Amino acid sequence: MIATDALMWITPRPDLVFVEGQGSWIVDQNGKRYLDFVQGWAVNSLGHSPAVIRDALAAQAGKLINPSPAFFNEPSVRLATLLTENSCFDRVFFTSSGAEANEGAIKLARKWGQKQRNGAYEIITLEDGFHGRSLATMSASGKPGWDTLFAPQVAGFPKARLNDLDSVASLIGPKTVAVMLEPVQGEAGVVPASIEFLRDLRQLTIDRGLLLIMDEVQTGMGRTGTLFAHEQADIQPDIMTLGKGIGGGVPLAALLAREEFCCFEAGDQGGTYNGNPLMTAVGVAVMETLLAPGFLAEVSAKASRLSEGLQTLSTEFNLPGERGSGLLRALLLPDDRGPGLVAAARALNPAGLLLNAPRPNLLRFMPALTVSDSEIEQMLGQLRGLLTAN
Ligand SMILES: *Cc1c(COP(=O)(O)O)cnc(C)c1O
Repeated sequence: MIATDALMWITPRPDLVFVEGQGSWIVDQNGKRYLDFVQGWAVNSLGHSPAVIRDALAAQAGKLINPSPAFFNEPSVRLATLLTENSCFDRVFFTSSGAEANEGAIKLARKWGQKQRNGAYEIITLEDGFHGRSLATMSASGKPGWDTLFAPQVAGFPKARLNDLDSVASLIGPKTVAVMLEPVQGEAGVVPASIEFLRDLRQLTIDRGLLLIMDEVQTGMGRTGTLFAHEQADIQPDIMTLGKGIGGGVPLAALLAREEFCCFEAGDQGGTYNGNPLMTAVGVAVMETLLAPGFLAEVSAKASRLSEGLQTLSTEFNLPGERGSGLLRALLLPDDRGPGLVAAARALNPAGLLLNAPRPNLLRFMPALTVSDSEIEQMLGQLRGLLTAN
């Protein structure tokens, strides 16, 4: 075993050190292979070490790694252009993590409130929502227990309930500037906002002069079968954040906004690595792959297969069902078997299976968008064996 004590302890981790990966497969220090349906928490959108990312990194590393964020660089301009050309947004600010992108969204909304809404600063967020691990984004999150962890919280994030428009409307007051939510609550257990709720919320925020901020860090970049999940509700948010899949595994995230809300003044926003060319060059490679003809249709076809397979298992084992959007799905369990199943899946031989249980009574599936039909079948077969034995 490799000694790991030099790393700060933050969470229990299995006694494994991963050394290589390719597509949907990852290999540990003993050479054991695992079929990966976690993919770095929905991050490796094109699977492990895809050629397009390796090539983009190598080419950019040999050309220019960092001119400083005080100057423009080619890949960041190119990626921002691809994002604005393919969304309802006009401007992009790049960060290294989803939490930072959300911090930027919160700052932009507060700045707009100062300028346009008499200093309004409250952002209504949702119970069980997840927006990151910085102090402000933890305060914006609705994860149980986080209101007292690292107290005092950052003020100004009253909590409404998902799919309950009245709970949002009743919180709106003179200090309200925005509503912020995930189109599918990932960490809460893959709970989708209904199309009707998203449409009504868009209308409500327009009627009340509030910004609508979509946290698409987990749902964006093709994960749900469209480039962005909000497209499925046919709405146009004012601000959106991206992370995870946008970098295909490298630290890259983004804050996007429509022109009329871009009100930062010099010095309001920045960051050493914002728009770093090494990372944005990877973002361009990922984005061009997603935009290739047929790619997103293929994601939807894979999602249907996964969904049908999970439904079949659910019926077979008398489970409460499955849910999700695209290749972000959950299989519901009647009890808290989740963590036990995750451990048993990892321990399978000769090939292990990586799954995740964000809540103990469900399993989450977030394979590479490039996962093959046979890999989906293999995972379902492994899962059938586990459900029989556990
Ligand atoms: C993962 C996630 C974040 C935080 O992103 P980091 O890169 O871990 O900071 C924010 N919002 C949502 C919806 C996420 O899933």
